[in-house]
This record gives sequence, structure tokens and C-alpha cells, in this order.
Amino acid sequence: MDNKIDISVIVPLYNEAESLPELTEWIARVMDEHNFSYEVIMVDDGSTDDSWKVIEQLHAKNEAIHGVSFRRNYGKSPALNTGFERARGNVVITMDADLQDSPDEIPELYRMIVEDGYDLVSGWKKKRYDPLSKTLPTKLFNATARRVSGIKNLHDFNCGLKAYRREVVKHIEVYGDMHRYIPYLAKNAGFDKIGEKVVHHQARKYGKTKFGLDRFVNGYLDLATLWFQSKFGVKPMHFFGLLGSLMFIIGLIAVMVVGGIKLYHIVHQQPHSLVTDSPYFYLALTCMILGTQLFLTGFLGELVVRNSPSRNHYEIADELK
Ligand code: UDP
Ligand code: MG
Repeated sequence: MDNKIDISVIVPLYNEAESLPELTEWIARVMDEHNFSYEVIMVDDGSTDDSWKVIEQLHAKNEAIHGVSFRRNYGKSPALNTGFERARGNVVITMDADLQDSPDEIPELYRMIVEDGYDLVSGWKKKRYDPLSKTLPTKLFNATARRVSGIKNLHDFNCGLKAYRREVVKHIEVYGDMHRYIPYLAKNAGFDKIGEKVVHHQARKYGKTKFGLDRFVNGYLDLATLWFQSKFGVKPMHFFGLLGSLMFIIGLIAVMVVGGIKLYHIVHQQPHSLVTDSPYFYLALTCMILGTQLFLTGFLGELVVRNSPSRNHYEIADELK
């Protein structure tokens, strides 16, 4: 099964039965016109409509069309990851099933990877055919993602249409909802030649969108997770230790203030109040407790990392023996 082909197209799908025949026909037409050897991997993410039946029929008609069917709905990221594992192409293209992404973009994406040497090319839906309630938060989302990830040239992180050099998809793991940040995952794995291509976008023809507005809340949380992992993934103490120390120092200063005032009053034989009357007492208490907890979290984090199989995993670009 390991004979290489030019292009693998991975299509994650959830209840998209109406779109599939049109989509696969279109992909096949583009591939044949350009003489690419190809495969299409349809990953049915636990659809409850006729999607899998349609895929079986398409597979019977065209042997380049493969299918994987999840027993239940796991999400777009697990679907993509499953496709990545199976892909045999030198270039891997991901594409949504809903006909919003155009297969006509494939040849140019392929060329950018093979000739221009990009590791990853992301589509940019410059002119979008989506409701305003989606396009506006998307702008904000992308601005934040650009800042946090340091990938300054991307306008559309979450575009479903992307092209990858084969090694990239074999070295990254997409899980949870992380498909929104694949360029960031790729960059963290050392694949930093990331380009962008303006792509044509269409309104959804059949079916309806599978993601609601909660995508933005979850998107930000995931971004925070990725940022933490890339910076402190194998050295959590550097994060928690710093915060813990800061807390401790604030607590210590507060203790000195409380103790100092009390001592001063005693020495000068002035009437002295209880330390619990001072606001600094409570500050000291809180900061000391929080500081200790942050430190302990750091230690626990270090123990977890010690047991992680990836603690000594590095992406090797080349090696001479
Ligand atoms: N999708 C999936 N599993 C899910 C949700 C969505 O495989 O749990 C697929 C969906 O069928 C489509 C792609 O992911 O092919 C993008 O979804 P959608 O078009 O609903 O997202 P939008 O275009 O609204 O961002
Ligand atoms: Mg869509």
C-alpha cells in the first residue's frame, strides 16, 4: 500500500450526503485534467444521514475514492487526523465536504508545495459567503491567532482548504478541536515555511453548518492551551514557578509590613492593634497560599512531563551517519 501518489485529498464530513457526488466528480475532473495520480479519503465522522451509503457507491464507481467511517461523531479534528494517518500522497490537501471549497484550487496549491517549497499552504477566503455573525468574530479570532502563534502572514487559520507537504501531516497530531490551529501545530513541529493562497469561496449549497458560535469561545481556550504547550509543555515549572514566586514575594512583603508595623508600635510602646486588623495580613495569607499551590502545581506538572512519552521527542530534519 505504500506506493506514493501525487495527491491525497482528505474530506472530513458529517451529514453531507447531498454534496458528495458533486464534490467527488469535480475533484476527479480536476485531477484527470492535470494528470495527477490521486486518492480521495472520505472520513465519515459518524453521519446519521446517507453519507456512508453514498461513499460506498462512489467507491464502487471510482477506486481512487476511499472511505473511513467512524462509529460515532468525534469531530472534525479526529476525522482529519485519521485521514492524515492514511494519506499516501506526496502532497496532502484537506477540503470541506460542503462544496464551499473549490477543487479548482488544487493544481495551484500543489504547485506551491512542490515548486515554491512551502511546507503548508492555507487557503484564504478573502471574499466570504457566510453570515456577518460569523465573519466578524472570525476577523478577531484570526488577529489573536496571528499574534499568539507568531505566524504573521496568515489571514484565515481555520480555512478548511489547505495543502501540506507529506512530512507535515505525518508529524503533527490533530486532536480535540485543534484543526483551527494546524498552522500553529505545524510551526511548533518545525515546519515554518507557511504560505497562503486566496481561494474562491461559495455559500453552502446543501445542508447546514455544523459549528455554532461556541466555536469562538472554545477557539480561544484552545489557543491558550497551544500557547502554553508550545512554551512550557516540557518545563511547566518555568511557568508555575515564576507565578508562584511572584505570589510569594508579594506575600512576604505583606508579612514584613504587618510585622514591621506591629514591632514599631511595641518598641515605641504605642497602643498596638491586632495583626488581623490590617489588610496586609489578608494579602499575606492569600498570596502565601496561592504561591505554595502554584509551586506544587509546577512540581506535579514536572512529574507528569517525566512520564510523557513525548518528553524527549524532537523533529529531526536531517542526519548524517
Ligand atoms: N465536520 C465533521 N465533523 C463534525 C463537524 C463538521 O467532519 O463534527 C465537517 C463538515 O461535514 C464539513 C467540515 O467539517 O465538511 C466543515 O464544517 P462546516 O461546513 O459545518 O463548517 P463551516 O464551513 O461552517 O465553518
Ligand atoms: Mg462549511
